Amino acid sequence: MNIYQDENIQATITQINMGPYSNNGYIIKCNQTNEGIIIDTPAEPEKLIEEIGDTNIVAILITHGHQDHLLGFDEIVNAAGCPVYCHKGDLELLPRSPDHQIQDNQKIPFGNQEITCLFTPGHTNGSTCYLLGNHLFSGDTLFPGGPGKSRDPEAFKLELQSIESKLFVLPPEVDVYPGHGDTNTTIEEALKQFAIFSSKSHAPDLCGDIDWLKS
Ligand SMILES: [Zn+2]
Repeated sequence: MNIYQDENIQATITQINMGPYSNNGYIIKCNQTNEGIIIDTPAEPEKLIEEIGDTNIVAILITHGHQDHLLGFDEIVNAAGCPVYCHKGDLELLPRSPDHQIQDNQKIPFGNQEITCLFTPGHTNGSTCYLLGNHLFSGDTLFPGGPGKSRDPEAFKLELQSIESKLFVLPPEVDVYPGHGDTNTTIEEALKQFAIFSSKSHAPDLCGDIDWLKS
């Protein structure tokens, strides 16, 4: 588990590593009001539920509908007792319909904060990243070293388009918190690695697990 304090926006980010696939669940709290949100609901939900403490959770945001991010869905939703948000592209993958379908660039308020939804299809049809200040919660769209797995060449092209148009336009100092693993990255580091990937030629049917430096 990692805890990050942002003194500028007065927010606390708790990154909780959960389940057999090393998924990350996040609790983001507004320090001034004690209101917070949760991002993703992986296995071992008790790990995340324990960290809620007295934080008043007002929203659960889903990055995408893959099962490993949802294995603790019922437990966490019941414990938090608040609405669930997901993009309509992944509706059929959720255990039940979300309370709210999110739109690209929608802002979801909690306490004195506002987190912005960035629709980034590719890894799945409804994949969404969430931006709060200089903190990007990237789900399985962007990892340290490469993009998330793509199921076919079209999906990979779409994912690249999403990354370039929505994520690589963010300030370089933005920290990137992915959906798996306890290593984070920054937009600056991802841009440098992507430049190396882009400088090489690739087969038109490239897809799957891509490493910016080795592919
Ligand atoms: Zn996934």
